[in-house]
Amino acid sequence: MKFEDLAKYLLRVEKTTGRIEMVNILTELYRTVKDPEEAAYISYILLGEIEPPYKGGELGLSEKLITRAIAKAAGYDTKTVEKKLNELGDVGLVAEEMMKRKRQMVFLTQELTVKRVYQTFKKISKVQGEGAIETRVKLLTSLLVDATPLEARYIARLADGNMRLGVADMTILEALANAKGSREMKPRLERAYNRLPDIGEITKILLTEGWEGIDKVDVTPGIPVRPMLAERVRSPEEAWEKTRGRLAAEFKYDGERMQIHILPNGNIEIFSRRLERITHQFPDVLEVVRKYVDLEVGILEGEAVAVDPETGEFRPFQELMRRKRKHDIHQVAKEIPVSLRIFDIIYDGESLMNKTFPERRKRLEEVVKTNENIAPSDITYPKTVKELWDFFHLSVEQGLEGLMIKSTGPDSIYQAGARGWLWIKLKRDYRSELTDTLDLVVVGGLYGRGRKAGVLSSFLMAVYDHENDVFKTICKVGTGFKDEDIVEMNKLLKPYLREKKPARVDAKMEPDKWVEPAIVLEITAAEITLSPLHTCAYNKIEEGVGLALRFPRFTGRYRLDKRPEDATTEKEVIEIYKRQRRVGVE
Ligand code: AMP
Repeated sequence: MKFEDLAKYLLRVEKTTGRIEMVNILTELYRTVKDPEEAAYISYILLGEIEPPYKGGELGLSEKLITRAIAKAAGYDTKTVEKKLNELGDVGLVAEEMMKRKRQMVFLTQELTVKRVYQTFKKISKVQGEGAIETRVKLLTSLLVDATPLEARYIARLADGNMRLGVADMTILEALANAKGSREMKPRLERAYNRLPDIGEITKILLTEGWEGIDKVDVTPGIPVRPMLAERVRSPEEAWEKTRGRLAAEFKYDGERMQIHILPNGNIEIFSRRLERITHQFPDVLEVVRKYVDLEVGILEGEAVAVDPETGEFRPFQELMRRKRKHDIHQVAKEIPVSLRIFDIIYDGESLMNKTFPERRKRLEEVVKTNENIAPSDITYPKTVKELWDFFHLSVEQGLEGLMIKSTGPDSIYQAGARGWLWIKLKRDYRSELTDTLDLVVVGGLYGRGRKAGVLSSFLMAVYDHENDVFKTICKVGTGFKDEDIVEMNKLLKPYLREKKPARVDAKMEPDKWVEPAIVLEITAAEITLSPLHTCAYNKIEEGVGLALRFPRFTGRYRLDKRPEDATTEKEVIEIYKRQRRVGVE
């Protein structure tokens, strides 16, 4: 396929403001592509990547480098291009504009194909060593020289790792299901993608081996599995009800979730909740796993919790974040040591995903040799609600976040990538007041006044509607941000600011700037109320109104470990609202 043809599709996607139309355009695109490799390249390009994040081959070339390549290709000096970038704020538009005003005369341009663009970027992502930067600029320039202005827009954005299309992995899966089967077949793709979260690879398997190949996809050590997620309840009674008393309760540790893979070659890899490779950040974890986990090959899941080196007590999550900002990894491992609490095992030579929780737990306890640096998560099997309450109090007393309650029933498998009632979280803050903390996605920004004029200082926040893969607004929040938070927010949001509503955002309110869903914040509020202004649960509780948060406030906690699709869902908010009302009536 010519890259120009793909660029035309991308432009259409960029222009739409509705998700359904976006899926339709992508479906049409995948219908026209017959070559599996090419289809895989397209899937990566749509997400602005060259390979999945867990492989570590990040593109994200610096703006400076992209600017230099644009200048070279168009025959201008770098200053002119930089100025344009300040004005337009998007490398894609700058590249397009500069290519329109190209002064460089090239007589023998070569038409770009999807394959050439992808493979050149692949090369760019692999160059290393001395002169790497020059080589990267050269390779990128070689593409831009041959590009039409529209092609240049998307080439520059791909270099930047930000396509500004608003396409997410689930959007692609839906389009692929439509194009090669029907929408109803999307869950089969999702199942495979949860075990092999590589959008290009899934595309390729579908086009080469068909649906049979897709159904055969299973976990592999070295490839992170999309994590299982939990529903929430507000009381031990409710958890009891939901699991019909067939449950185990574990401490909920306030640390960082890790998937630890022990590979057949003896290497160990660690992946974050967002499936990024974080192996190099935790040399101490590697050592502990090597010494105290009795497995030749396997996949474990656990929480790394910061501990006070002097007392051995758990420290809050923020401590761990401090660790991330430091550079000398080995030094920091001494200053802020972590202790691992292993809570699941997914693989031990074969997939354990379809085993029940008690079977997995038994295996886990066999392989983890407990000491102060690593242990299976604290667990109890309460026989009464009273015993569950006791364990909850114990966890709160120890300064932990509450409990994770796990079904022990015959259906208690490991549900990769899914949120369900097999895992339930009971957080302590749900108990203390009427408030719930919600993890919400920023979808808009509003400018402040006075001292804060010209900076975004309040934000339009949204929940995730999983069924429709869209983000629905629930509140505007401007409280709880310290001055440094406002600075941080403006920095974090910059790459995602948009002039028009992103296609996967469903909103009635019009912010000053739209924001592509990417950043998740923890928000508390006094209560959930009916509101005509917000689209969360619109028409679902009552005609013509949705749900909104009253007195929302930022807790100070950035949930950068969560993808926007991991945010609190519309369904959860409806449940909380109903429960809240029930409490009110009783
Ligand atoms: P949340 O991040 O609030 O949605 O809560 C779910 C997270 O709690 C998981 O992703 C884990 O990182 C963390 N967690 C802490 N302790 C446990 C445990 N015992 N079992 C499962 N998850 C846990």
